[in-house]
Amino acid sequence: MTANDDLKALIRTIPDFPKPGIQFRDITTLLLDPKGFATAIDRMAAATRGEVDLIAGIEARGFLFAAALAVPLNAGVLLIRKDGKLPGATIAEDYALEYGHDRIVMHEDALVPGARVLLVDDLIATGGTARAAVRLIRKAGGVVEQAQFLVDLPDLGGTEALRAEGLAVDSLLAFPGH
Ligand code: AMP
Repeated sequence: MTANDDLKALIRTIPDFPKPGIQFRDITTLLLDPKGFATAIDRMAAATRGEVDLIAGIEARGFLFAAALAVPLNAGVLLIRKDGKLPGATIAEDYALEYGHDRIVMHEDALVPGARVLLVDDLIATGGTARAAVRLIRKAGGVVEQAQFLVDLPDLGGTEALRAEGLAVDSLLAFPGH
């Protein structure tokens, strides 16, 4: 038993979703467990380095963790969304997918330049989404020096790539493979 094995036991693996060869790490089972979700948030809050002004959550599962963490950390919640969902003027960042590309956006006035931002998502795989979010926050003038995830898939290199961008990266759990 190592640290966070209690939480790992609450994550369900669904093979071949959304396509053959992917082991989908399904966190909905952890969310359904009141003690499990609260414990995950407590441990992520404890891993936060210094004070932050905003917790940036990546749509959609990242919103759940960002919102829950913002309360004990006394921070606001910054929504990083898929394109076309935010009503105000936005800034955008594109990133490559295996086939094609995708776009994330945020409200252009969502943060005061110099605001300290903690980036949060449920899971980091290749890190493509998280790196695009870092570029977007920095473009808006935010200072993003740390990122947290519930789950890391280290073999896909996302954590390493984010660290190369100068961030401190913490995850509670890791699964081998992809
Ligand atoms: P990436 O940009 O490759 O780091 O992918 C991260 C996003 O895709 C996260 O928002 C995850 O929720 C989702 N994701 C990628 N791979 C998996 C997986 N094996 N199981 C569950 N979610 C995944």
